[in-house]
Amino acid sequence: MKTNLNKRSFVKFFTVTIFTFFLVPFELAKALTKKVVNKNLTKKQKEIMFDEGTERAFTSDLINEEREGFYHCANCGAKLFASTAKFESGTGWPSFTEALPGAFKTKVDYSFGMKRIEYHCASCGVHHGHVFADGPSETGKRFCNNGLCLIFKPTNSN
Ligand SMILES: [Zn+2]
Repeated sequence: MKTNLNKRSFVKFFTVTIFTFFLVPFELAKALTKKVVNKNLTKKQKEIMFDEGTERAFTSDLINEEREGFYHCANCGAKLFASTAKFESGTGWPSFTEALPGAFKTKVDYSFGMKRIEYHCASCGVHHGHVFADGPSETGKRFCNNGLCLIFKPTNSN
């Protein structure tokens, strides 16, 4: 009887341990992977956000956007950049000197034989662009963002 109980509590302990050490981190990892929030994303948007694609340079209308406001994630709507951080980089992609705190998570990308820092929306996990260390302001950063991943909302748009 006593051995049975011990055996049962061991099984319970074992199950809890397995769950804690394997399943919980797995669930956390899953939460950080990409999820489709906006069901109306175009094929090109999905290609960039979910397959680390890049739009052609000088194709985004947002390059010339100069109004005050915020840039949001086109998938989940999270606020990512303030218009005050935007600058004309001449690269052909919307560029920013800094992101809003906690907006992105970064990872090292070794594709095309280069070491680049890739960044993803912290809320939904989708790819947005790369951040470089040659920015013009005191942050020293240049966030090179695909315009198709962004939705601009002007401050005075009612
Ligand atoms: Zn997002």
